Amino acid sequence: MKSKVFFIRARRGEPAEEIARKARELYLALGFNERIEPEDFVALKIHFGEKGNKGHVKPRWITGIIDEVLKRSQRAFLSDSNTLYVGNRSNSVDHIRLAWEHGFTPDVVKVPIIIADGLVGRDKTEVRVDGQRIKSSRIASAFLMSDAMVCLTHVTGHVQSGVGAAIKNLGMGCASRAGKLDQHSVVHPRIEARKCRNCGVCIQYCPAGAIVQLNGHVAIDDEKCIGCGECLVVCKFGAVKMKWDEDSRRLQEKMAEYALAVKNHFGEKICFINFIMQVTKDCDCMAKTQESIVEDIGMAASLDPVAVDRASIDLVKQQAGRDAFRAGYNIDWSVQLSYGEKIGLGRQDYELVEIES
Ligand code: SF4
Ligand code: SF4
Repeated sequence: MKSKVFFIRARRGEPAEEIARKARELYLALGFNERIEPEDFVALKIHFGEKGNKGHVKPRWITGIIDEVLKRSQRAFLSDSNTLYVGNRSNSVDHIRLAWEHGFTPDVVKVPIIIADGLVGRDKTEVRVDGQRIKSSRIASAFLMSDAMVCLTHVTGHVQSGVGAAIKNLGMGCASRAGKLDQHSVVHPRIEARKCRNCGVCIQYCPAGAIVQLNGHVAIDDEKCIGCGECLVVCKFGAVKMKWDEDSRRLQEKMAEYALAVKNHFGEKICFINFIMQVTKDCDCMAKTQESIVEDIGMAASLDPVAVDRASIDLVKQQAGRDAFRAGYNIDWSVQLSYGEKIGLGRQDYELVEIES
């Protein structure tokens, strides 16, 4: 049986109110809203964007969806978890202030913001997975105290998983810092001395102090490295390498197992809305303005995270006329989909239902 994916076209140049109207229509097409009960805590999972990032989902795009959720329950809130790396989203105070800076203020979004793993990212709850990669996941507690989730995702490329979409928003995005560390622990970058210019930029950006000068060369201390991937992104000379296939495969498999732990918690009360707008080579954790790698496409929604990601990727490939994600980082992004399917997270086989706008 195919999973249904609803799709509506949109462009970034359209007024935010128009995108919000379309997003509301798409959300209602899912028939999900009726599943929300008046007393339900509803987590609207989102990535507010790192400081300086312009690609994140815009607050005014989601106001229509929020209006509909509030008609069912007044206990809705916007939420994300704190980051592993030291930035502007690594504790709840800075995180919420940054969300406000990016326009997610109460007057616009009408709901409070709750950072799901507490003040400094330590509020976590263990959930048994018994997967091939993970036995027990560590999820940000507030997500597991919620009754329903609307997963709002900006589709982007990603330096470690090739694509960052609904599976990543669920698996990595709902993990506590300990859970993120667990997933990243399989990533072991190294520095290729031949290409390294010894500029020291990676040393400044490494949140774990794992990069050191050693006998006139720059090297990574494996004992200290937390696998965050920051050095891969900041090196302009392509000197930082990871074992793309091996490390990325394991990371994507762990991510899918974490995603399954969260999805199983919500059962029928979780849905996924992907914004295929301003699709960039890197994710919204990047503190910079990025060029789009493809023209804006629109929004896709489903009750199935694997199907909505598969459809989003296919739409990007069609629009670009090539695999625009693989062109950014030569990573096999399909692992998260095929492994997700294997463990029961969803199906890659989908039926695309286009909503006329
Ligand atoms: S940023 Fe790249 S070139 Fe510069 S020191 Fe680090 S690895 Fe070497
Ligand atoms: S992945 Fe790179 S930036 Fe991140 S902790 Fe390891 S060495 Fe540092």
